[in-house]
Amino acid sequence: MERYTRVYAKIDLDAAEWNMREMRANLTEGAGIIAVVKTDGYGHGAAPIAKAVDPYAAGYAVATVEEARNLQCHGITKPVLILGAVHPGCSRELVRYGIRPSVFTLRQAEALSEAARALGKTAEFHLAVDTGMSRIGVSCDAAGADLAARIAGLPGLHLEGVFTHFAQADEADKTPARRQLGRYREFLAMLAARGISVPIRHISNSAGILELPEAHFDMVRAGISLYGLYPSDEAARDRVRLRPVLSLRSFVTYVKEIPEGAKVSYGGTFTAKHPMRIATIPVGYGDGYPRNLSGKGCVLIRGKRAPILGRVCMDQFMADVTDIPGVQEDDPVTLIGEDGGERIPVEELAETGGGFHYEIVCDIGKRVPRVYVRGGQVLGTKDYFNDVYEDFL
Ligand SMILES: *Cc1c(COP(=O)(O)O)cnc(C)c1O
Repeated sequence: MERYTRVYAKIDLDAAEWNMREMRANLTEGAGIIAVVKTDGYGHGAAPIAKAVDPYAAGYAVATVEEARNLQCHGITKPVLILGAVHPGCSRELVRYGIRPSVFTLRQAEALSEAARALGKTAEFHLAVDTGMSRIGVSCDAAGADLAARIAGLPGLHLEGVFTHFAQADEADKTPARRQLGRYREFLAMLAARGISVPIRHISNSAGILELPEAHFDMVRAGISLYGLYPSDEAARDRVRLRPVLSLRSFVTYVKEIPEGAKVSYGGTFTAKHPMRIATIPVGYGDGYPRNLSGKGCVLIRGKRAPILGRVCMDQFMADVTDIPGVQEDDPVTLIGEDGGERIPVEELAETGGGFHYEIVCDIGKRVPRVYVRGGQVLGTKDYFNDVYEDFL
């Protein structure tokens, strides 16, 4: 961490393991966890997260073929499922590397079957069924079950799982989620009636894991909860105690006094009403720090809250340290996380700026190195600017 003097995201791998253990202890008997590491592990870094939780994971889920390959290239050998639509043109790559696609059209299924035949392999896939998201999946009715039967019967294909996705399980009122669950069960019965056996049934996202034990089936898909965040503020926090995995740290680069009447940052949206002491912090929306925190957010310096003054720029912003004695250059700044007794959770950034906590972690930029820590030791870093091009440039 000493290497990083501007900003870094500390990724606490102990917390990720803790979250997996906490969830596992609360699953219904026989259910396993698929660790969802799409969007580079919700911005935390997919490969290090996957490796850290590998002993607790039955498999992984991502959004793209590239994400799946990236995990495999980093030595992940457990099954990887792609949760969204994959273009039929990628079928050979899927089959070659044993990546499980979500299949729900005949076009996809036929391309996959053809690739399996050409490569002399069996293609495992998961059938997606639409129980209420209207996003992907075969329709949840007899026509959908007929299509599923037709797909499952194609040569070279093996149906490994059938899944659907909750649209509102993170809300206090579980009626819509239970309605989806009911439809899913009916669909499974329709498949059974057509002689189709389903090895892995899965429906639950984090919200389902936390609050719908009747929806755990054979596997659950843990996304946001793996990273220690609750899916919403309506989600129950008592059964599974999650620990946030990511904190975002920086350093004061400059401290100065400004007189009454001085304006701060672009647009002059803040004017000092009295002499102030302000600190400059070398992080901005170019690092994924939300610009909508301008004049609203806070950071922690010396365990105290320092309010953001004026607009967040691309690479820097200013904070009021008038009431924090002794602030000087190189003082650590906490943008997300704890300092002393104070804490700024990701959810606070979302609430203050009118954003979404999932999006805030996913959007932490390429300029922010991720530093992986376990047992107080730095295990490694992910630094997008540490590329080596050899003779290419
Ligand atoms: C992203 C995603 C998940 C994980 O959702 P969380 O709310 O982050 O747990 C699970 N299933 C599907 C299909 C997804 O797209």
